[in-house]
Amino acid sequence: MDIKRVLVADAVDPACTELLKKYSIQVDCKYKLSKEQLIAEIKVKTFKKNIHSFCRKQNRNLIVKPTKLRNEQFDTYVYIPHINFSTPGGNSISACELTCALITDLARNISTANASLKAGRWDRKIYAGHELYGKTLAIIGLGRIGREVAIRMQSWGMTTIGYDPIVTAEESKKFNVEFMPLEAIWARADYITVHTPLIDATRNLINGKVLNACKKGVRIINVARGGIVNEADLLAALKSGQCGGAGIDVFEQEPPTNAITLEVIAHDKVVATPHLGASTAEAQIRVAVEVSEQIIALTGKSTEYT
Ligand code: NAD
Repeated sequence: MDIKRVLVADAVDPACTELLKKYSIQVDCKYKLSKEQLIAEIKVKTFKKNIHSFCRKQNRNLIVKPTKLRNEQFDTYVYIPHINFSTPGGNSISACELTCALITDLARNISTANASLKAGRWDRKIYAGHELYGKTLAIIGLGRIGREVAIRMQSWGMTTIGYDPIVTAEESKKFNVEFMPLEAIWARADYITVHTPLIDATRNLINGKVLNACKKGVRIINVARGGIVNEADLLAALKSGQCGGAGIDVFEQEPPTNAITLEVIAHDKVVATPHLGASTAEAQIRVAVEVSEQIIALTGKSTEYT
């Protein structure tokens, strides 16, 4: 494919544009375009069917619907709406480390004790925590991030159990995760962390029924996608004490404005971050370079030695 110009429509590390320019690809960075501006921006010259399908395949969030584009004319213009769209591996370590940080924060009430101290209180008793050593961490989704979390939390002395429909018990043994069906997991877990995509099978995976099947005080962590943990059910479980705490980086609505999400975020037992899983300098560079490499690969060139 002959790619001459790339429109970067969301902030991306300069490593992305630098690499593209090395391959003589012109880069236009135009952030925060409205839908209309974006359509105007990519409506130019000769229609290239292959680019149209590239957009459709790679970009599930494409603002411009393919049907609207059918009769439009295109230059050799590739639209990159969001740096995460096709680089799932680049931010795995960052997402994993945030997960581990949330687990340790929940165990020792770090964020809440910190807020209390800054507010002028000296509350030592109410922020007494527990050790992670000897506790059981259930990992739902044993892909890139799930298994990295397992390896790290094992070094804290946690027992790791987990489930994934495409991972065998034999494979999970290699990273010391005891594989078991979901029904068997709930009653065993002290902590549950989800690392699945948001699909029909995982929407509301952690719901009221599941939370009630868990040990009283179970902690829930979601650094995957909003919607995997049902927020209304989580809130009810937090209020009843069935859930002893939650570490949440992703929400059903982002940024959140709905009452239930806001109540979850405000709850004393919740440590919440605004979708920071991939927000590290290292992940941004890795992801930026991976995006460029994929675009350059479409031109038939290799970036192996750059
Ligand atoms: P991955 O594709 O490597 O692993 C996901 C795993 O989930 C797969 O092994 C898959 O088989 C498994 N899975 C699918 N359906 C399941 C089900 N019903 N039950 C249990 N497991 C199931 O993905 P990854 O790179 O490890 O990412 C995991 C999640 O983290 C994704 O949702 C991703 O979008 C998200 N993520 C979030 C951030 C952030 O900023 N918070 C950053 C990176 C990734």
